[in-house]
Amino acid sequence: MTSFDIPEALVRAEIDEAALRDNAAVLADRLAPARLKCVVKANAYGHGVDLIAPVLFTAGWREFCVATIPEALHLRSLLGPEPEIIAWLYGPTTDLDEAVRADIQLGVSTVESLDRLTKAARRTGATARAHLKIDTGLGRNGLSPEAVVRAFDWLRRHAEDSRSAVTDDTDPTRDPGATTDPTRDPGATTDIRIVGIMSHFAVADEPERPETAAQSAVFSSAHGQLRAVLDAADGRLGESDDLDVHIANSPGALTLGPCPGTSARVGLALYGLSPLEGGDPTALGLRPVMRLVSTVINLKDIPAGHGASYGLTFTAATDTRFALVPGGYGDGLPRSASNRAEVAIRGRRYPVVGRIAMDQMIIDIGVGNDEVAIGDEVVIFGPGGPSAAEWGTWANTINYEIVTQLSARVDRTVRKGDGR
Ligand SMILES: *Cc1c(COP(=O)(O)O)cnc(C)c1O
Repeated sequence: MTSFDIPEALVRAEIDEAALRDNAAVLADRLAPARLKCVVKANAYGHGVDLIAPVLFTAGWREFCVATIPEALHLRSLLGPEPEIIAWLYGPTTDLDEAVRADIQLGVSTVESLDRLTKAARRTGATARAHLKIDTGLGRNGLSPEAVVRAFDWLRRHAEDSRSAVTDDTDPTRDPGATTDPTRDPGATTDIRIVGIMSHFAVADEPERPETAAQSAVFSSAHGQLRAVLDAADGRLGESDDLDVHIANSPGALTLGPCPGTSARVGLALYGLSPLEGGDPTALGLRPVMRLVSTVINLKDIPAGHGASYGLTFTAATDTRFALVPGGYGDGLPRSASNRAEVAIRGRRYPVVGRIAMDQMIIDIGVGNDEVAIGDEVVIFGPGGPSAAEWGTWANTINYEIVTQLSARVDRTVRKGDGR
């Protein structure tokens, strides 16, 4: 095998470390006394988790969230044993042993998961830390009201079982891994601990809607009941006063004051993007962390009547000049933004004409435009160019999707310093 020095990619995502650190600090201030949990799922919303997570960790943040167990284990190997890592999305056959061994805290959305987590803990000899996930109205994951009742029953039974296991050492069905460690925490089970309760808002980005308060009320009620279950179990399943209570996402964190619970799981806002429609991140004290750039690699004068790109969906009305720019749906740019999107070159906006192809797009810079030269930087989105939210509008989607779908072909690099 020969190895090569691979040159920089044509499309590059510059990550502004200072913006990321500042956004986290601004959000933490806003949330206090609730704590900031940094959501770095989906490759840190396309920004590159290998770059983003270490910057946050070095800046002192110790609570991270991802969706899946593979994401959580990757993060654990990246950041080491210290930070709290929560994951909440796994299937009925996903292996939980490795997650428990790596001290990944799991959101629990089914009663079966409580069982499976406990078994994983016994097999591995580690303690499973669980956050009960309550569906308070989103209808997605989380325990339904009926499943909440069954989960509490399961917990009561489990506390009883561990109580009798402690007092009855002769019980032949007793699993040695399930009993207490009397030297540490008398009476506590070592297999599963309920360390948190969580839920997720559906419409917190629309502050005028009543459903958010309704979800909060359901959540508070479940929290109260869980506290009672834990107290009745004499601390065997966890301490009610130590529960981590979290329901707010970025929209919740930005629209609700004060932030409900003891922490908030913040994703999009951390990256300096607004979750609110038409929202201006600057007004929230946030700055975009990513700047997606490319380069002008060809220029040509085009006569009136000439077409552009596949399908010739654009025809030049007058003589003009085209700039060719690497960047297409193979990099994660949405083809649906064809003939609508804009980019910035030397601080001026120009339209994308014709279809965005897999690898490249055509920019109409106008007849005789000598301001633009081959080799010029093109800001596709981010500071100095359009926003990810504008791309979202052009593509009939949202900024979340624009950044998250950036592909592996894009080089992500950290820009040091204090940004702009
Ligand atoms: C993605 C996600 C978040 C973060 O949402 P943002 O709107 O990006 O802040 C929080 N909680 C859950 C359960 C999620 O899936």
